[in-house]
Amino acid sequence: MDGLLTFLGTGTSMGVPTLGCGCAVCTSADPRDRRLRPSVLVRWTEPGNQSRGDGARERVVVIDTGPDFREQALRNGLKRVDAVFYTHSHADHILGLDDLRPLSFVAFREGGPIPLYAAPETKAVLEQVFDYTFSPRATYPTRARVRLEPLAARNPVHGVEFLRVPVVHGQMEIAGFRMGRVAYLTDVSAIPEERFALLEGLDHVVLSALRHQPHPSHATVEQAVGWARRIGAGQTWLTHIAHELGHEATNRALPAGISLAYDGLSLAVSL
Ligand SMILES: [Zn+2]
Ligand SMILES: [Zn+2]
Repeated sequence: MDGLLTFLGTGTSMGVPTLGCGCAVCTSADPRDRRLRPSVLVRWTEPGNQSRGDGARERVVVIDTGPDFREQALRNGLKRVDAVFYTHSHADHILGLDDLRPLSFVAFREGGPIPLYAAPETKAVLEQVFDYTFSPRATYPTRARVRLEPLAARNPVHGVEFLRVPVVHGQMEIAGFRMGRVAYLTDVSAIPEERFALLEGLDHVVLSALRHQPHPSHATVEQAVGWARRIGAGQTWLTHIAHELGHEATNRALPAGISLAYDGLSLAVSL
């Protein structure tokens, strides 16, 4: 299935510019140096079903709803969401969940709450942070119409399969995702040996690369380049980027076939 992957945000947890910082990247005039918190949008057209009388319709899935989700949805003209997948429970990946509310009212009228796919550890944090949404005793009338779904190895959504690719983020195991010939792996500090088999035959792979200096729970550019070579996708895109990396200079120094992603970039993908 032909689809589109759009980077809603490519910044690290603090975003770029980083508050209180006056460095060359944080004050850069290059729009590609302004990075909202990490998230991607996956879109495709689900073919209609003549026997059921359904027409073709656009499907929209978001991976992570960070603190910038509302602004990202506005910038990208997001009118509806069919599902959300969560990679893990850190603030930069979940705190925009509440901004799904208006879109969830649309989804609810069309057929039901928006499914949010989350592993058990992520689900537990979401239930705690958004208690007024998920508690069985919740009575807040305009709470988000969303429903937590267990994250399986394979998660079909309107004709596209979201395959879970477990990776390591510091001390945590978190979820990456493969959809057809594209994969999105953010917040990675290690890829277990056996996971590389899930990453064969890709046109595009997205890997996180924080900066050049080592970090306990994020890959450096050099580590990500090493994985990129091993995975051998047609094109590798780096995301979750800190203010140590200026877009233009960093991109120029990267090997062929590897580039920094930037907010708003869209890729034609085979899902
Ligand atoms: Zn993160
Ligand atoms: Zn994280």
